[in-house]
Amino acid sequence: MVMRPISDAAVERAAASIHQPRDPNTLSNYNAWRTKHTKADYEIDFDAKRLKGTIELTLERLAQGERKIILDTSYLDISGVAIAGLRAKYNLASSRTEPYGSPLTIEVEERHASDQQSELTVQIDVQTTNDCTALQWLTPAQTTNKKQPYMFSQCQAIHARSLLPCQDTPDVKSQYTFNIRSPLPVLASGLPTGARDFQPGKDGKPGTLLYTFNQPLPMPSYLFALASGDLACASVGPRSTVWTGPEELKDCQWEFEEDTEPFIQAAEKIVYPYAWTTYNVLVLPPSFPYGGMENPQYTFATPTVVSGDRQNVDVVAHELAHSWSGNLVSNASWEHFWLNEGWTVYLERRIQAEVHGNEQVRHFSAIIGWKALSDSIAQFGEDHEFTKLVVDLKGKDPDDAFSSIPYEKGSTFLWHLERLVGKDKWDRFIPHYFTEHKERSVDSYEFKSTLLAFFESDAAASEKLNELDWDTWFYKAGFPPKPDFDTTLADQCYELADKWQALNAGKSTDFEPKADDIKDFTANQSVVFLERIQTFSEPLSPSLVEQMGSTYAFSSSKNVELVSRFYTIGLQARDESVYNPAAELLGKVGRMKFVRPVFKGLMECDLELAKDTLKKNRDFYHPICRNMMQKMLERFEKGK
Ligand SMILES: [Zn+2]
Repeated sequence: MVMRPISDAAVERAAASIHQPRDPNTLSNYNAWRTKHTKADYEIDFDAKRLKGTIELTLERLAQGERKIILDTSYLDISGVAIAGLRAKYNLASSRTEPYGSPLTIEVEERHASDQQSELTVQIDVQTTNDCTALQWLTPAQTTNKKQPYMFSQCQAIHARSLLPCQDTPDVKSQYTFNIRSPLPVLASGLPTGARDFQPGKDGKPGTLLYTFNQPLPMPSYLFALASGDLACASVGPRSTVWTGPEELKDCQWEFEEDTEPFIQAAEKIVYPYAWTTYNVLVLPPSFPYGGMENPQYTFATPTVVSGDRQNVDVVAHELAHSWSGNLVSNASWEHFWLNEGWTVYLERRIQAEVHGNEQVRHFSAIIGWKALSDSIAQFGEDHEFTKLVVDLKGKDPDDAFSSIPYEKGSTFLWHLERLVGKDKWDRFIPHYFTEHKERSVDSYEFKSTLLAFFESDAAASEKLNELDWDTWFYKAGFPPKPDFDTTLADQCYELADKWQALNAGKSTDFEPKADDIKDFTANQSVVFLERIQTFSEPLSPSLVEQMGSTYAFSSSKNVELVSRFYTIGLQARDESVYNPAAELLGKVGRMKFVRPVFKGLMECDLELAKDTLKKNRDFYHPICRNMMQKMLERFEKGK
């Protein structure tokens, strides 16, 4: 432990911020102490479905005389606390403050309270419990080769606290050391420093190896990530590997090897050189609830991106872009989530345009995004708090606010700013913003002031930015102004959809659907075609749905982006032939983007089948997804 006098800067910072913690979704007193380094010594116990070990936090003192350290925990067992190696008094709140968990209060005794000590090291003996919301444990039967168990974490937004006691706020960034024991290969969100030290197992249990990782770049707690299972890896670029089960490795390698490095280089051209040394992808089992999670070093990705046609690698462009927006420059709280996701979607589409040398691709992707935005706004209602760019999350669960809105409204805002000041000028602001706030956390007001300051000496840009109605952008619920999209790539999809609409209305005489209609479409163009059909006020007739499914081979597609949208159309049409396949899809794919619309459609068509499907697959779903489905079901039954 380093002992040195507390710096003037630290005291000033504390005085400025002690009464104004920016993040309402943490119970920690992070304005009094700030985590500088986190060491996780954990053993993964697959039988007990637990992590057990010691967490060591190195905390910087920000407030003089502060005698309490309050940390976030949720469903953790704490068995001992020490400060600088000496036993310390602590109290784990016996009742929970929903949805934030049980604060752990550690007393800083007189001998450690000297203001001359700028840092303290706290060791906490801890194990996770069965109620842990950050981990999913799979039995061998739930994995593809059915040989070994599997576990992985998902900490965003506020689940890190159920994995380790910490200051669980994106406003605090810490370096990390991971020392993880497991009988199976381990990945963590750091650079591997070598697996060693075999320990033979006792009582018939398998032996364990120690896997060590180091994360020298400070990162927020929600990027703490672990996975362990029967993992194999292959190269997909000069600084990139893909990890997955041994049987899926070849397919995954093929899916990513063409695009990964060009994506990284395109992003570097737009922002600046990649900071995290390596960029790798871990393809998870199908219950992973998201498209991807931007855990540093290892993006965690859904297997639905591996569609055998390289048509869904845009997820990689997205997660990679997070290496700058989110991971290097982080939102200070989940109320400003658009700074993470809006920037990332904006960069993802810039990367696509750069790689394809074509701005139309960017517009086309934004058109798909606008549909997702419309769906989310419809779901919440146009006046809902969660349809704002900057949301109020006091007392709320950030998971409840999660939707496409911060992604799409955020990227629309950035695109609006690009057009307002002009692309050349805006392109000089991008690296400035990511340099200015590198390794920091920012809120919307800092974003605004950084932008205004950057263009201060440019009268034309400055005038436009000052005239902009910032409050409307930040706080008005519902839709932002719709951008003027270049619809070249979408028009063919709309035209085909219109023909189906006419056929459905009994108006068309000369349109005879055939496979050739979509032979030149990319998978994303088929997506736009299907989404257009979904917007028609009159659902297709069940017989037309069946004809579409067989003519265009949507019903047999391996691409879940297509098949899930096709089923949604079938459910809208009350086409009974898709009820069972839709229920089967819900038993194979746990990505919430697909589960949400298909489950909703199924509830509306056949409530009993929907309930049975949830019941049958309870253990398959990730806790976050299961919770969402449960809430959807409760709302639906209440509304009936
Ligand atoms: Zn994202």
